[in-house]
Amino acid sequence: MSLPIKTENLTKKFGDFTAVDQVTFEVDRGEIFGFLGANGAGKTTTIRILTGLLAPTSGDARVAGCDVYTQQEQIKSQIGYMSQLFSLYRDLTVRENIRLFGGIYGLSKTEIKRKTKSLLERLDMQDRADFEVASLPLGWKQKLAFSIALMHDPQLLFLDEPTSGVDPITRRQFWEQIYEVASQGTTILVTTHYMDEAEYCDRTSIMVDGRIEALGSPDELKQKYQKKTMNDVFVSLARNAERGGGGT
Ligand code: ATP
Repeated sequence: MSLPIKTENLTKKFGDFTAVDQVTFEVDRGEIFGFLGANGAGKTTTIRILTGLLAPTSGDARVAGCDVYTQQEQIKSQIGYMSQLFSLYRDLTVRENIRLFGGIYGLSKTEIKRKTKSLLERLDMQDRADFEVASLPLGWKQKLAFSIALMHDPQLLFLDEPTSGVDPITRRQFWEQIYEVASQGTTILVTTHYMDEAEYCDRTSIMVDGRIEALGSPDELKQKYQKKTMNDVFVSLARNAERGGGGT
């Protein structure tokens, strides 16, 4: 079976500005891979390429074995995507959102019915099925968005700052869901600005000014850079960034 993600010298230029600069990395099946970097480092641009939304300028990348230059549509059917900014339709009910995304993911009416029932049961949300999403607490919205992103059983899930703005307990619960899904073999690529979450990943990369400056397990990186926490590793690498002011 092909690797969930494999890139080699992946590069994206906007005019003469190089947003992503010869990025090479692999992600293994069932791995939770943290994709870290300061503001403007090039994470979102890389994710847009890997999710089939943007063509690279040069280099290679395969997602679920599909070529990012020529097989964008196949890629979209193999992946799930969730971010804090793009998730659910607030003015639709819980049930309507499930139905809508099920349709977008190409599920049949029968499958959507079955998935709606099991998803509502699992999230203990049967009583809220006909509530507008806008009325739900943020933690619930996230759980729902996460489950919906997995509705079509993708082999790879992209989480782009999924826990932004959420309290630590809800974030921890969200990570329990991530572990559960990864333990069933789904691969996760997650970006976060919370360095405690970087510690929960199997491996992380740290991007600085378009390049991957560091890659390894949290323990390997802490040892390599002689730091006690991932936050310290991150700060020591991002401090000299030319873009984004070195912050997270
Ligand atoms: P953040 O955490 O702030 O989202 P990021 O690591 O995701 O940062 P990107 O959004 O990938 O960074 O941006 C990388 C660089 O590329 C930034 O300097 C950004 O201004 C630039 N950039 C992104 N998209 C475009 C575009 N369409 N045209 C020109 N420059 C762009």
